[in-house]
Amino acid sequence: MPLAPRSQRLRAFIVSYLALSTALVFAVHQVTMTNGLERLSRSGSVIAEQSADRLIAQLESYRELTDLTARHPQIAALIEGRSTAIRTSEFLLRTALITGAKEIHALDSKGQVLASSTFEETPSDIGEDWSERADVVAARTRRMGVFHSADEDGLRSYYFARSVLRDDASPQGYMVIKVNMDELEGEWRIDETVVAFFDSAGVGFVSNRPTLALTYDASLAQVPIGTFDYPEKLLSPLADHSVTAGNGRTIWKFSNATAMPDHALVVSKDVPLIEMTVRAFMDAGPALGEARLMAALVAAILSLFGLGFAIFVQSRARLADQLRLEAEANSKLEARVATRNAQLQKAQDDLIQASKLTALGQMSAGISHELNQPLSAIQNYAVNAQKLLERGREPEAQENLTLISEQTQRMGRIIHNLRGFARKETEPLERVNVAEVLEASLGLAAQRARSEGVSVKVETLPEAWVDAGQVRLQQVIVNLLSNAMDAMTHSVPKEITVSLSQRRGQVQLVITDTGPGLADIERAFEPFYTTKEIGASKGLGLGLSISYGIIGSFGGLLSVENMDHGGAAFTITLPALTMQEAAE
Ligand code: ADP
Repeated sequence: MPLAPRSQRLRAFIVSYLALSTALVFAVHQVTMTNGLERLSRSGSVIAEQSADRLIAQLESYRELTDLTARHPQIAALIEGRSTAIRTSEFLLRTALITGAKEIHALDSKGQVLASSTFEETPSDIGEDWSERADVVAARTRRMGVFHSADEDGLRSYYFARSVLRDDASPQGYMVIKVNMDELEGEWRIDETVVAFFDSAGVGFVSNRPTLALTYDASLAQVPIGTFDYPEKLLSPLADHSVTAGNGRTIWKFSNATAMPDHALVVSKDVPLIEMTVRAFMDAGPALGEARLMAALVAAILSLFGLGFAIFVQSRARLADQLRLEAEANSKLEARVATRNAQLQKAQDDLIQASKLTALGQMSAGISHELNQPLSAIQNYAVNAQKLLERGREPEAQENLTLISEQTQRMGRIIHNLRGFARKETEPLERVNVAEVLEASLGLAAQRARSEGVSVKVETLPEAWVDAGQVRLQQVIVNLLSNAMDAMTHSVPKEITVSLSQRRGQVQLVITDTGPGLADIERAFEPFYTTKEIGASKGLGLGLSISYGIIGSFGGLLSVENMDHGGAAFTITLPALTMQEAAE
């Protein structure tokens, strides 16, 4: 499958990164919110339970009081007619003052008020028929009847009713105790959390926020609102709110309720003992805020990371472009260098050839002389042989023919050397015996030396093997020999000393002369440096520089020095091949 272009891959990456980041931010928000609401719900349960316990404990004392008064001898005396209503009412008032009960009433078996702690007030309750009241009705069948209501002023009361039982188990009368809920609430300290108790008709009856009292929530109503005695005009619906789902939990959002938190997690608990439902309105704001903060934090980190990554990708792309451009420029440059090198190599090869031809030109006179000599000797021997044959002196003629043969061999050697010298050598390096090359070079220079009266002294070895090109090495030696002879034109004596030696892994060939030495030794190997007349078979100033290059290409060195007693000494130094390498 072919790879998508870079920009397309980048776009795909960005899209998936954004999708993944959004999912992650959402997940973090949900998890943090769930955890926060979970914690809130747990503490809401605790608060609801504590509030229920507190209310039950407060009411419990009045329940017990109802129980106690029902069994009190004063009440028994009243019912049996042994005590008066006034005396009993005084007793009930005293008891109410001591215990904090709002009112205490004693009813006869028909449910009519006999004595009351309110006996001094007008109108007093004495004589009223309470037989139809829910608490009294309940007390008839159960041990304890309860009821709650609010009066026209909105004062909420809780009633306990207890039947006064004698031996035959039918109620002889009833005790009814009224507790003021407003006072009871007053004992509650101000809690941060809003708590309210709703009765089975859905009316908020007790709360630590006064504004919640007598608010109405239809969702909790199990019985008609008329079941309890509330003045209708005082009832108002529970504060205006919308309900949102907070990840498995219900959050109430209050628009205008002063007592309520803006966002509330509502934790409800049934309190069967008082037949109410307690609700804790937990402030969900911090938990929701924390979830939003965490989500924002993760979003910020992911954005930063994304930004960093984008910068990294950008700079990498830029670097790659830069590297590609550099590589292109490099390969162009390399191609140009290779072309130039090839051109240079060709120019150098041509120069070597030109300098050889120059040397050949210089040597041509000597060589033709060298060839002429055996040629005229051959002619003489041939004429002699002819004459001897004519005279029938065959054995002598035979000798002459042998001499002719020797002379042709000599000529053959000279021509062989010349051909070798003129050959253009481009072969790779090979094993070369310097002693052999030296001998051939001396052969080429011999005639000129003889004709110019130059004596050549040679100290050589039988073998000295190096890696070189035979023709090129010969060219260098011939060039050095002919330079030496050029230099000694006006010198007396004219001596060339050639010594070949091998020592410490190096082969050294030293050629010295008795000429004047080099006038400007620093420039000897400079191309076109010459002190000779310019022109064919004269100086070009290339011989030494080419020789220097040739020896260098064999891994060796050509050096020169002027000797103390006059004359120049050229040294060719080449790495020697070991016996083993030479034998291979
Ligand atoms: P050319 O022989 O064409 O002048 P070379 O490069 O062979 O070029 O020599 C450069 C110069 O070095 C010569 O012109 C000469 O002045 C000097 N030279 C070379 N060999 C000798 C020598 N053996 N003695 C003195 N001078 C020399």
